Amino acid sequence: MADDCLFCRIARDEIPAKIVASDEHVVAFRDINPQAPTHVVIIPRAHIPSLNEADDAATIGRLSLMAAKVARMEGLAERGYRTVVNTNADAAQTVFHVHLHLLGGRAMGWPPG
Ligand code: 5GP
Ligand code: ZN
Repeated sequence: MADDCLFCRIARDEIPAKIVASDEHVVAFRDINPQAPTHVVIIPRAHIPSLNEADDAATIGRLSLMAAKVARMEGLAERGYRTVVNTNADAAQTVFHVHLHLLGGRAMGWPPG
């Protein structure tokens, strides 16, 4: 846990967020600036700044499994959805607590911007 980390504070319920699902390891909440009809951010409760610092396969794997669970809950599983992890400047990472974006509810272009 990092005292001054926005996503750690959401995980600790110190900052309000629209929580969609959570368990002892991960928290899923709606993005404050959604880029698709469904835009959910999935974080580990543990503070890891980015994928570059991640070393625990279970922690990273749980983010994807929670995304699939939320996609089912939101009715997106069959149509499809996108999961994204932005890492550092070229990917426009802005919050340095590793997170997976779940985006769905509209058709996505490829390649991404
Ligand atoms: P990044 O650009 O680091 O991959 O994504 C960070 C995401 O966190 C952005 O999509 C941004 O809209 C979202 N975000 C930033 N601050 C808050 C907040 O206080 N609450 C919520 N729910 N989302 C936030
Ligand atoms: Zn954190």
